[in-house]
Amino acid sequence: MDNNTWPVCRKCDLGQLLPLSDFGSQGASIHYKAWVCSDPECGFNIKIRNGDVYLNEPIASGASHSPRIR
Ligand SMILES: [Zn+2]
Repeated sequence: MDNNTWPVCRKCDLGQLLPLSDFGSQGASIHYKAWVCSDPECGFNIKIRNGDVYLNEPIASGASHSPRIR
């Protein structure tokens, strides 16, 4: 499989869905936790959080996110 080929965004048919990874609370990497359209005009995204799937949440810049302290 060609690693440079990602699924085409079904919303805009222009961008590609790029897999994003995250790190869990234990420091373990979570691969492909979210998929985001590569077209910023589109902004389609899908995420998995705590086993639930979230479709098309607004994309935050990250500046408004404060680190979670547990
Ligand atoms: Zn798109």
